[in-house]
Amino acid sequence: MTAVPHHLGIDVGGTKAALRAALADGTVREAGFRVTVGPGPARHRRQRTWIRWLGKVREPCGGAPTALAGVSVAMPATLGAAGVVTAWPDRPGGTGTDLGSAPRGIFPTIRVAPAPTTATSPALAEAHTAGRPDPLYPGSGGGGLVVGRVPCPGLGRRTLEIGHVIVEMGGLRCVCGRRACLQGLASGRATHRRACLLGGAVVSYYGLERPLPNRVPWAADAQEGRTGALAAAVTGVEGLLRPDGLLIGGGYAAGFPEFVPSVLGFLPELVRQGQAPLPMGASAHCRKRWGRAGRR
Ligand SMILES: [Zn+2]
Repeated sequence: MTAVPHHLGIDVGGTKAALRAALADGTVREAGFRVTVGPGPARHRRQRTWIRWLGKVREPCGGAPTALAGVSVAMPATLGAAGVVTAWPDRPGGTGTDLGSAPRGIFPTIRVAPAPTTATSPALAEAHTAGRPDPLYPGSGGGGLVVGRVPCPGLGRRTLEIGHVIVEMGGLRCVCGRRACLQGLASGRATHRRACLLGGAVVSYYGLERPLPNRVPWAADAQEGRTGALAAAVTGVEGLLRPDGLLIGGGYAAGFPEFVPSVLGFLPELVRQGQAPLPMGASAHCRKRWGRAGRR
């Protein structure tokens, strides 16, 4: 008997896409495939590529995608109001792709809401797992906000781009084309680059594992360049939108136990006088599952 799908999440990264279908009988099906956008300006070619990606959801959905109750599509691209890609820094060939209308051929009976960052769906999952209605979920390079148990600012209205909040003047150029975005300072790549500069040698991605617990100065400085920037962005969002808690996630945070305490250590000096820092919720953990699926 074919299982009836319940919900489907599609997480499109720079080079790969991960699909995860949670079925009504409690089982989960996962699939992944490489993302390719052909060269050339032809819009119809890009459109065919996107439709081909969507066609691959039939496998994790048990061949019955129309039985889905909901679909979440997370894209690392900037979308216009109609769901057309207006900028995709890692995949310039994808600009102009209509992500809004293409899914209707695969999911004719449900509303598909593309989200321009890959953190929206994990934020929703983390909020559900933590039992919080309005948490802020900042990842190490992006994040999402949930208000009233739904993504803020709402389906079809794009999403918050916490990773692209500008946290200082000047600074390094971000993949979005601006300077000094949170992502440009706090991403794993930026932290790695800072560690190499401060350490005076090439440091591997996880080369901070040993020096960080011992508070070796260059390693601590490299880490605090990231956690301080994240704390600044969190404080700005907290002042504007008043989330009810903080869920810090990301594979990097899970791999470095010093990460979350370091972020929390910056908050008291950034918070407005007379106010308490945003409380930390239960540790975020769903993102690790998304990360594993994305590496297929
Ligand atoms: Zn940016």
